[in-house]
Amino acid sequence: MKKNAFVAVPAVLTEIIVETPTIKTFVLKPAEPIPFRAGQFVQLEVPGLGEAPFTPSSSPFETDRMEITILKTGLVTNKLHELEPGVTLGIRGPFGKGYPIKKLADQTVLVIGGGVGLAPLRSLLYHIEGEPDCCGSVSIKYGSRNPDELCFRRMHEGWSGRQGWDFTPTIDRFAPGWEGHVGLVTTLLDDLDLDLENTYAVSCGPEVMLRFVTWKLLDVGFEPDRIYLSMNRNMSCGMGICGRCNVGPYYLCKDGPDMCYADIKDIPYALG
Ligand SMILES: Cc1cc2nc3c(=O)[nH]c(=O)nc-3n(C[C@H](O)[C@H](O)[C@H](O)COP(=O)(O)OP(=O)(O)OC[C@H]3O[C@@H](n4cnc5c(N)ncnc54)[C@H](O)[C@@H]3O)c2cc1C
Repeated sequence: MKKNAFVAVPAVLTEIIVETPTIKTFVLKPAEPIPFRAGQFVQLEVPGLGEAPFTPSSSPFETDRMEITILKTGLVTNKLHELEPGVTLGIRGPFGKGYPIKKLADQTVLVIGGGVGLAPLRSLLYHIEGEPDCCGSVSIKYGSRNPDELCFRRMHEGWSGRQGWDFTPTIDRFAPGWEGHVGLVTTLLDDLDLDLENTYAVSCGPEVMLRFVTWKLLDVGFEPDRIYLSMNRNMSCGMGICGRCNVGPYYLCKDGPDMCYADIKDIPYALG
């Protein structure tokens, strides 16, 4: 029998990892395996309160557990941040298309994250780690407001040390003790030493960041069809029915959330 996509699979919250003062990773064990592709999203339900969309930050090769990394921002996310392990939540999905993995063969992948936007991208990085031949080299540029808000700090060294990978973090404004780059994540895109004709850029972060990242990428010579953006707008049903996430002819929940800039560039206000 076909699964009812409106019914959530129960999932026990087994662990909570504090990433930053405002971001936690929730480790969930669903009652049945939930296969997903990197970049697809799920609706996470807090029983009795509501649900919200999140893209798993864990490896798509693990289907019997799922990690979701969440910034505290409002009704559902505040409640999630108050929870303790042991409670049962619900997961609907996965929805959307996920990252264009097939296009990445032999290509350099330029990963650009801002704040909690590194969470969906981490599942892409896990995919590449698990299937190294799916692409060429990987260059990660990651920006956060301040050093305390850098997400997944425990993984940064491993990413920079991997053969064919580089990882550069930046913070918005100088902070005592910080010896790395200072400036918005777009400033890391000024001197890219990449063959742009063989590079795909994938970016996730706040809408304003996506806009400026896109302009910068175009400025330095990227073609629109080599830029992918996670358009994490408000979405509800996840199946292109409710119409909450329309952008021109697209439903971001069904056709995205990762959209190729070439497909949306002529749609008024597509980037907010
Ligand atoms: C496909 C997709 C994947 C996402 N993945 C992640 C993720 O991995 N980690 C994560 O922390 N967040 C992610 N988000 C954002 C997350 O869905 C929102 O932060 C969440 O819905 C807020 O719910 P709330 O009830 O806590 O906030 P609300 O009380 O509903 O709103 C609080 C504030 O957040 C704003 N807001 C609500 N929903 C969104 C949204 N979708 N995008 C931007 N602002 C919003 C509201 O306008 C309001 O200002 C994703 C969103 C989408 C659409």
